[in-house]
Amino acid sequence: MNARDLNQLMVEPSCEHQTAAKPKTGCSRPKPGATQAGCAFDGAQIALLPISDAAHIVHGPIGCAGSSWDNRGARTTGPALYRYGMTTDLSEQDIIMGRGEKRLFLGIKQAVERYRPKAVFVYATCVTALIGEDLTALCKAAESRFGLPVIPVDCAGFYGSKNLGNRIAGETLLKYVIGTREPEPAPAGVHDINLIGEFNIAGELWHVTPLFDELGLRLLSTLAGDSRFAELQTMHRAEVNMLVCSKALQNVTRKMQERFGTPWFEGSFFGIRDMSQCLRDFARIINDADLSARTEALIAREEARLDIELAPYRKLLTGKKVILFGGGVKSWSMISALQDLGMEIMATGIRKSTEADKGRIRELMGDDAQTFEEGSPRELIDLVDQHQADVLVAGGRSLYAALKARIPFLDINQEREFAFAGYDGMVELAKRLVTTIDSPIWPLVRNPAPWENSTGEKK
Ligand code: SF4
Repeated sequence: MNARDLNQLMVEPSCEHQTAAKPKTGCSRPKPGATQAGCAFDGAQIALLPISDAAHIVHGPIGCAGSSWDNRGARTTGPALYRYGMTTDLSEQDIIMGRGEKRLFLGIKQAVERYRPKAVFVYATCVTALIGEDLTALCKAAESRFGLPVIPVDCAGFYGSKNLGNRIAGETLLKYVIGTREPEPAPAGVHDINLIGEFNIAGELWHVTPLFDELGLRLLSTLAGDSRFAELQTMHRAEVNMLVCSKALQNVTRKMQERFGTPWFEGSFFGIRDMSQCLRDFARIINDADLSARTEALIAREEARLDIELAPYRKLLTGKKVILFGGGVKSWSMISALQDLGMEIMATGIRKSTEADKGRIRELMGDDAQTFEEGSPRELIDLVDQHQADVLVAGGRSLYAALKARIPFLDINQEREFAFAGYDGMVELAKRLVTTIDSPIWPLVRNPAPWENSTGEKK
């Protein structure tokens, strides 16, 4: 990818926080030394890896594949090929002797013959970009040789941040995949939609799809949780795109609007208010009176059901204080969900949050909302102490800090085991919060051991 293409990707005109004078202010910038598992390659692979019937080959040294393979809990209802870590495992000898392209070609052959994927994605890494391999030409040759789509993803780690990698993944799909096949005609009264930035972590997409089925909204594809290659090819026929959890994929929604006229909106499936708003937004944009009426009826039914199901949990959670450190879009989407349970958010982390994410935080928590950037273990523990918080809601990386400090902790990031999206996800979230806060372990571990005095010293 040349410098001009990269610069264009850094500028997203549909982001309201980018102006002509300061075009890149909406993008988080890469920090030196912080690229491992957070580079452009990682971001591209994270976005595309859930395409479950494709082979994903990392063209580079084994360390790149190790940095990112299977590091998210994206689930599938069908093929599980995406969970195979495939790499050309380039060594110094391969690089010196110029054997990289040959190894890649053989790697594609092996993947095709052994696993029969529907498509092959080939990811460039720093090393293969630096030695100047022509991935596009090689993938083209492999495509005509093996008779299936072989797609180059030009995402060398040094191009930039994980967010940029997400965008590169979106560009790759726009260039090679979206619009290359027509879907089956939709039955009468059924409307086609896409979810962009939905990764089906812990299977939470399945909390939402039954609602779409009931409303007659046919999910053509997600990008890319529980998706199939053939579905992604038909995305251009959707009547509306929802940008679920990734400002970084805004380039896909914008360009689909420009090319195919697909309108889009941004939303979140976390929390009752946001979930209901998403359904309303679909009906509003599709502009079908019957769909709107059925949507309102479904929302009323689900919210009434939740009022009953959440009542015992709300009793226990109302007024409980939370320190939230989700980063990115979760810095605001989780606020709404926790507020729906009556909890008080004392401070929220804004690492990797865009200006738009920060705007949403202010909308939900007011202008005086306390935010923090770094989220180091020390900072989190100090915040919990300062606010006398009842629980730390954060990503898996903060787990050990929380346990060492004997603070109740709930994991909400991509490694989470439980699905929190949708109406059913709210009940799950409430249940998990009560379980962690009310665990009998906390009084036990906070009290001095029988051989210690109240300050923790030996008697
Ligand atoms: S692509 Fe580059 S920055 Fe990313 S994991 Fe590989 S070597 Fe590291």
